[in-house]
Amino acid sequence: NTFTEIDLGEAVNLNIRRCKYVKPTPVQRHAIPISMAGRDLMACAQTGSGKTAAFCFPVISGIMKSGQHVQRPPRGARTVYPLALILSPTRELSMQIHEEAKKFSYQTGVRVVVAYGGAPINQQLRELERGVDILVATPGRLVDLLERARVSLQLIRYLTLDEADRMLDMGFEPQIRKIVEQMDMPRPGERQTMLFSATFPKEIQRLASDFLYQYIFLAV
Ligand code: AMP
Repeated sequence: NTFTEIDLGEAVNLNIRRCKYVKPTPVQRHAIPISMAGRDLMACAQTGSGKTAAFCFPVISGIMKSGQHVQRPPRGARTVYPLALILSPTRELSMQIHEEAKKFSYQTGVRVVVAYGGAPINQQLRELERGVDILVATPGRLVDLLERARVSLQLIRYLTLDEADRMLDMGFEPQIRKIVEQMDMPRPGERQTMLFSATFPKEIQRLASDFLYQYIFLAV
């Protein structure tokens, strides 16, 4: 019933205390151990449930344990290789996730960058060039970055689809499929995928069976 019972690591635990989170919310209590165990997850969770921390903590902790985050792109490199991708439907939600993820990864060495549409791409490119471990992005802008070969998804170890039902409502399914096709097939030990959605219509279940590997279903 506390965060310290989960082996997130000292740096993440310190940030949890800095955020003044004392007790995990229900979605955190269930989703974090599932994710730390390396399992794929489809979770039914509403805004305000604490789902952002539920998918950020295991990813930050896992990247830290892997030690891969210390690598920085060589000078002049145009393509960056994030280790984790968080897809979200809107600019506002992406910005919120980015702000939270930065707090959770403070002084961990894990770098979080956000890229969303409806804003000039140049500043986002400058941020990407400085290196990115966790990329928070809207689907349309990410497809643009992939087509420009500024981002490669070859090293993605963690994929989170947040508010998947809203992304489908907004017509992002073709972009999402295009994005996921650029990653390895879901096989154990290669990519870990978490899908969060407020509702579970047929289309979401189809996404889950296409993108997730032997996933655990969680409704809180
Ligand atoms: P979310 O559902 O991720 O948008 O989170 C909703 C709000 O709850 C955000 O302001 C979080 O910072 C906050 N929050 C998330 N987890 C906890 C927790 N365990 N204890 C207290 N506040 C939390």
